[in-house]
Amino acid sequence: MNYVIPPAPLPAIAVNGSDDLFPVRRIYCVGRNYAAHAREMGSDPTREPPFFFCKPADAAVPIAVDGRTRLPYPPATTNFHHEIELVVAIGKAGRAIAAKDALEHVWGYALGLDMTRRDLQFALRDKGRPWELGKAFDQSAPISPLYRAAHVGHLRSGRIWLKVNGQIKQESDIADLIWPVAETIAYLSNYVELMPGDLIFTGTPEGVSPVLPGDTLEGGLDGLCQIALHVGQPI
Ligand code: MN
Repeated sequence: MNYVIPPAPLPAIAVNGSDDLFPVRRIYCVGRNYAAHAREMGSDPTREPPFFFCKPADAAVPIAVDGRTRLPYPPATTNFHHEIELVVAIGKAGRAIAAKDALEHVWGYALGLDMTRRDLQFALRDKGRPWELGKAFDQSAPISPLYRAAHVGHLRSGRIWLKVNGQIKQESDIADLIWPVAETIAYLSNYVELMPGDLIFTGTPEGVSPVLPGDTLEGGLDGLCQIALHVGQPI
């Protein structure tokens, strides 16, 4: 049997310290998972159940360790925002996973950017429409190499930060996640079967702001890794 058109390449991200790749199946993202970011988005940061949205797997863009990655400025926005986030990679399938067992399903961790066309997201949100065009566009999920949990352990705390052109914009600690990794996995797995290859962007802290072509972004999660990349010209 033949495909009638060439199949798209399988999206994949690098595994740190090797030539191996982690194939990406789905990208789930948690909305408003730090209290101060919920407030800056105009929401009450009480501990409501988490909510999720998705990005297509091919939105994942590997961020090269040499800092030369150029992320194109996307079309149809004048308010292109960074959101630095801890990313969890699932290595073991499961549904209705108990929080106490959830970390057994984690293959590794990465640092990612949930890039957002904030103007489109808010316009869609305010009309009660899906956010997709604000969140789930081409190359909207740049991501560092993946670090094996077997090597780095499970991350419960650590400073997470992002600088634009050398100026600190976001700075928090993943200990401040409203829904920590294990509880996020447990909650999400009540709605979908998690499968090897799934990524979960766990939400961004406060301080999101717009970037422009030519800007340099640097970010880090202490105890895991640092990233650097540039915003390219408009597509
Ligand atoms: Mn986000």
